[in-house]
Amino acid sequence: MKSDHLQADIVIVGAGMVGALAAVLLADAGFKLIVIEKQLPEKIGPDSISMRVSAITRASQVLLQKAQVWEAIRQMRATPYTHMSVWDGSGSGHIDFDAADMNQPDLGHIIENNIIQAALWQRLQSHAQIQLCCPAEVDTLQLAEQASRLQLSDGRSIQCELLLAADGAQSKIRELAAVNCSSQPYDQHALVTTVQPQQGHAHTAWQKFMPGGPLAFLPIAEDQCSIVWSNSPQQVEQLLQLDDAALGQSLTEAFDARLGKVQVCGPRAAFPLRLQQADHYIAAGLALLGDAAHVIHPLAGQGVNLGFSDVALLLDCVQQSRAAKRPLGAWVELRRYERAARAHNQPVIVAMDAIKKLFSNQQPLLKRLRNSGLNLADKSAFVKHQLIKQAMGLSA
Ligand SMILES: Cc1cc2nc3c(=O)[nH]c(=O)nc-3n(C[C@H](O)[C@H](O)[C@H](O)COP(=O)(O)OP(=O)(O)OC[C@H]3O[C@@H](n4cnc5c(N)ncnc54)[C@H](O)[C@@H]3O)c2cc1C
Repeated sequence: MKSDHLQADIVIVGAGMVGALAAVLLADAGFKLIVIEKQLPEKIGPDSISMRVSAITRASQVLLQKAQVWEAIRQMRATPYTHMSVWDGSGSGHIDFDAADMNQPDLGHIIENNIIQAALWQRLQSHAQIQLCCPAEVDTLQLAEQASRLQLSDGRSIQCELLLAADGAQSKIRELAAVNCSSQPYDQHALVTTVQPQQGHAHTAWQKFMPGGPLAFLPIAEDQCSIVWSNSPQQVEQLLQLDDAALGQSLTEAFDARLGKVQVCGPRAAFPLRLQQADHYIAAGLALLGDAAHVIHPLAGQGVNLGFSDVALLLDCVQQSRAAKRPLGAWVELRRYERAARAHNQPVIVAMDAIKKLFSNQQPLLKRLRNSGLNLADKSAFVKHQLIKQAMGLSA
């Protein structure tokens, strides 16, 4: 029989990739958790490739290893990329990266989001320290430094020391807690789909910058690529209406047929892009993680990687509080998390926004400067080393 009054050290709302990783790592560290998720995760088809993928950095891989899910992810599917090739479609600028230059086996992995979530859910559902409430939603909450209270829509109530909001960009918890969020839509939507190019992907993550937005071909499985094509909302709407053959032709042309003729082999969808950040990552009794705290342009595939690093920093913060026998939800304790997460995230957030704006600008002088900048960077081993360290999440 379900109890109407539940209690835990920490409650997490949202068990997407970020919330589920937080749940597993916090439970492994000995905290008692309740996880509230409004819907069951998408099922994984045995052969079909999901159109939602993420480029997972080495730093995130280490966290997934710590959560003991990396092997399960690899067995389902994780495609390493050993090269990155980036070029400006309106000039001659290009830059290439090679894992061998870093003495690394790869630069990262392309992994379907539902595979990461499924592997984490396998652990989450069987963890003695975690009680999963799904489907469930929070109706009301009263936040406090010592003990917060939540009321679920099914009538149950929960008391906890700390509430974590990992319920994504439209976070209801952020709204209920009245944490303001600055949000600025980009003039771009991202079209995603899966394609089979004529030539193999050569384990390379390719990205071409065009005036309308970047087009990425990300290697997935043996010979397919996951597409992320950022473009004006009108252009994306037109692309969505095309049949598979016509969309394949548009992709082949837009990509200068670098991988030969492209055949669309999966469903497609579009996502509006925005730059968004909560004014505060914390309040008394509350911390925001992942997209609930920040949303960035997907051009360098850093969004969920920032969310995973939030999890690592939060884990560190609450372990320190517990060791010192101080309340997990105390604002002064959570300030350590907020400071560390902002210091880590802000440079990435600013850089992604600047790159988006730099490559959308067709001012002739700026075009010349960015093209020569890319070519100069390509010739400097030092600059490339720093850039790739950042992209792999190894600089912090
Ligand atoms: C086109 C595109 C490409 C991208 N590519 C990359 C990439 O290559 N690399 C990268 O690092 N990032 C990438 N990102 C960003 C990445 O997808 C997001 O940062 C990531 O999905 C955020 O994870 P999250 O767990 O914070 O939020 P979400 O994935 O939004 O998960 C939120 C969870 O909370 C649940 N939830 C929501 N509301 C409630 C509620 N009221 N009650 C209970 N549960 C609730 C949802 O069901 C869900 O399970 C990309 C984004 C886009 C749009």
